[in-house]
Amino acid sequence: MKAIMYHYVREYDDLLPNFRFLDFRNFGKQLDFFERNFGFVEKEEWDEALTSGLNETVSGKVILTFDDAMSCHYDYVFPELEKRNLWGIFYVPSLPYVENKILDVHRIHLLCGAYDGRDILNILLNIVTEDMIPDTKIKEFRNKTYSNQKNYEGVSEFKRILNYFVSYDYRESIINDVAESLDYKFDPDNFYTSVENLIKMNSAGNIIGSHSVNHPVMSKLSRAKQHDQIKDSFDFLNRIGCIQHKTYCHPYGGFHSFNNDTIDLLESEGVDYSFNVESREITINDLKNSKHFLPRFDCNLFEFGDAS
Ligand SMILES: [Zn+2]
Repeated sequence: MKAIMYHYVREYDDLLPNFRFLDFRNFGKQLDFFERNFGFVEKEEWDEALTSGLNETVSGKVILTFDDAMSCHYDYVFPELEKRNLWGIFYVPSLPYVENKILDVHRIHLLCGAYDGRDILNILLNIVTEDMIPDTKIKEFRNKTYSNQKNYEGVSEFKRILNYFVSYDYRESIINDVAESLDYKFDPDNFYTSVENLIKMNSAGNIIGSHSVNHPVMSKLSRAKQHDQIKDSFDFLNRIGCIQHKTYCHPYGGFHSFNNDTIDLLESEGVDYSFNVESREITINDLKNSKHFLPRFDCNLFEFGDAS
C-alpha cells in the first residue's frame, strides 16, 4: 500500500508566475495512471488495515493525502475525487481558521511564486541580522549563506533561512518586512478551504486530519509547545465536527521535522495514526510499530506528478 502526498493542485495564475504547483490536468492524468497500475485503497479497506493489519487485497494500492488545506483542494481536488468515487485524507492547520491569516510557510510560497528568487533573497539578507538566529545555528548560517553568495540558490536559500535559521520570534515580522518592501498584499480570505467546505468534504467521505496549529518544525519546539500544537488543532477539528479518524501529519515531514516528544504526545493524545514523508510502501510492521510516522511518497515521484 502506498500513500501519496499532494500540496497545491491548481491552474496557472498570472499573479504568481514562479509558483510551484501540480496542474490539475496532470493530477487527473496521475489518478488515471494509479488506477491503471495500482488501484486505490477503499475507505473500508483502510479502516480494516488500521485495525487488523494489512491484507493481500490492498497490497500496492494507493491512498491519497493532501496537506495544508489550500482552497484548491476544494476547488480542484474534491470535484475530481467525487467524479471518480475516490476519497482522500486532508491535513489541516488550524490557526488560519482561528486568526484569519495566512501561515508563514504559505506566505513564503506566495512570495517565491510572485517574485524572482534572487531578488527576494537579497531583500531578505538585508533584513535578517545575526541576533535573529539562535546561537546554535549562527555558524551554520554564516557558512551556508554569506560565504556562498556567489552560487546562492535564490528560492531554496530564501526558504531555508526563514524555515530553518531564523528564530520563530522574528519570522513573522521578517516576512511582513519583505512583503512590505515589495508592496505585496496577502489575501487570507481566499487562500484556504473554508470551514463550510471542509465540512462538505468530510460529509462526502473524506477524512480531515490535524496538521498542527501553525505548521512549525515541531523538533524546534519545547514539549509543552508541541503539546499545544497537537491538542489545539484537534480541538478545532472537534469543534467543526470533522474527526472520523484521529489522524495527524507532521508539518514539513522527514525525520528531522519531529522528535521523540512528538511521537510520545501523539500517543498520549490518543491519535490513531500519523503520516511522515518517506519514499516507500506502508507495511504491516509500520501499522503495528511505527504508526506515528507512516511513510508517504511525494506525488512527483510518479508519472504526471511534476510541479509546473
Ligand atoms: Zn504541510
